[in-house]
Amino acid sequence: MKIAIYPGSFDPITKGHLDILKTGAEIFDKVIIAVAKNSEKKGFLPVSERVNLIKQSIAGMDNVEADSFDGLTIEYAKKKGAKVLIRGLRAVSDFEYELQLSQANSALCEDIKTVFLTTKPKYNFISSSTIKEIFLNGGDISKFVPEPVYEYLMANKSEV
Ligand code: ADP
Repeated sequence: MKIAIYPGSFDPITKGHLDILKTGAEIFDKVIIAVAKNSEKKGFLPVSERVNLIKQSIAGMDNVEADSFDGLTIEYAKKKGAKVLIRGLRAVSDFEYELQLSQANSALCEDIKTVFLTTKPKYNFISSSTIKEIFLNGGDISKFVPEPVYEYLMANKSEV
């Protein structure tokens, strides 16, 4: 069974992430989308809420699971029996960082490979940070995020 991990901050999950995940789920037997708790980025939503929103957004995707993890991604991958990490590429600007990260991961563990996937062009520009910026300034984010994320943010507007 080919298991892949799709790690990230998913703060919150967007339609760009979902598109990558759908492609991953077609290629691999099982994909675990996992929120990294040790991200240096200051969080917008709590990790438990991010996982909750992912769970609602992947309803109906039978070979996809949502989780969170502490520590090194490769250690988490080993624990889950995964040999593949999925990362998304949007623009050349992502490439340098992603290449470095994948090479660091392979230096730590040769058996775990990173594969890069791209989204449909209409989702390419979407990032969690752009969405936060639009949302916090009162813009309409309904086209960019899965329905459960939209509903959660609209319902918790005053708290986030
Ligand atoms: P971001 O805040 O940039 O969305 P994440 O850590 O949540 O960052 O992203 C996890 C992974 O998903 C990264 O590999 C990132 O490059 C990828 N990704 C995020 N949004 C997109 C998108 N719109 N198209 C392709 N890949 C994406």
